[in-house]
Amino acid sequence: MRNLITGGAGFLGSHLVDYLMNKGEDVICLDNFSTGSKDNIALWIGNNRFKLINQNIIYPFFCEADRIWHLACPASPLNYLNKPIETLNTIFLGTDNILKLSKKINARILIASTSEIYGNPKISPQKETYNGSVNPISKRSCYVEGKRVAETLSFEFKRIHNIDLRLVRIFNTYGPRMMKNDGRVVSNFIYQGLNNKPLTIYGNGLQTRSFCYVDDMIAGLSRAMNSNYSHPINLGNPEEITIKNLAQKISLNLNKKLNLQYLKLPEDDPIQRKPCIEVAIQELKWQPKISLNNGLDKTIHYFVERFKNER
Ligand code: NAD
Ligand code: UDP
Repeated sequence: MRNLITGGAGFLGSHLVDYLMNKGEDVICLDNFSTGSKDNIALWIGNNRFKLINQNIIYPFFCEADRIWHLACPASPLNYLNKPIETLNTIFLGTDNILKLSKKINARILIASTSEIYGNPKISPQKETYNGSVNPISKRSCYVEGKRVAETLSFEFKRIHNIDLRLVRIFNTYGPRMMKNDGRVVSNFIYQGLNNKPLTIYGNGLQTRSFCYVDDMIAGLSRAMNSNYSHPINLGNPEEITIKNLAQKISLNLNKKLNLQYLKLPEDDPIQRKPCIEVAIQELKWQPKISLNNGLDKTIHYFVERFKNER
């Protein structure tokens, strides 16, 4: 099987590269390294089943593949808020280019959408049938509305051109290879804690998220790609936690008593997020296996090893 992974040098993309390479498949990794890193895929450079293409997805390109996994897009608010217009272009033009490629080469395509399309949800847990509550003009909208229109575009390609579409709505995922400075809460707290800095809580810390360990997520992506289900599907871990409790849990797992520093809540930061994964359980026979405690320990272990020479 020949796989094209856009965003393959990023956090999720590089774990997917590992997964498919370890299964013996061929992988083409397309990335412009804007938020990803060559270190993430260094293991495979030189392997004859692996090919790296340095390319900005906003420009059309061609390659042969049987399956396309479209992940290229900054995922951390810090990254996309810094470059809102580039983010919108990456999402819209990039998705348009990759959908055209999928049509041209007749490849099955999996689009990585996000729980953010539900916005600041008025129902919980969020089911795929919930249409979301989104502000079109906030700073966060470059990502949120971008991803919403990418879903629209994908389903028009399916309706008009009959492309073989899979679309997953990914909820907060964490694990090894998160960048220490990419601004996401799990990596921030672990890196701050290891350096005995206060954990920065935005707002009152009562907002919730549901965190899925990366290995579970990759298993979910693979199940979705291999299934016959072509409607949107939530992938995430329904174990919901407040950000304040997450800070306490990370302090405990680090075995440290850390101070909390309260900072301003970013504009339109969703108050609650928890996936309903009934469709994934039924259609994909998938659900996460790794508890938050266990996953945090694995992630902490990675950060300790990766950054031990810095302290
Ligand atoms: P990431 O930032 O670590 O990886 C994204 C990769 O895409 C990076 O390697 C980056 O260099 C590349 N990229 C960005 N813009 C590009 C462009 N214009 N051309 C080519 N390459 C480009 O993010 P991630 O956490 O691995 O997320 C991957 C995908 O999953 C994204 O589409 C994101 O929206 C989605 N997602 C992730 C999460 C999560 O919790 N990690 C949650 C919801 C959705
Ligand atoms: N957050 C926080 N401190 C940090 C980073 C993030 O309190 O140092 C909060 C953020 O405001 C949000 C939640 O943690 O409510 C999850 O943030 P993240 O950026 O990881 O993911 P997203 O907002 O995209 O769900």
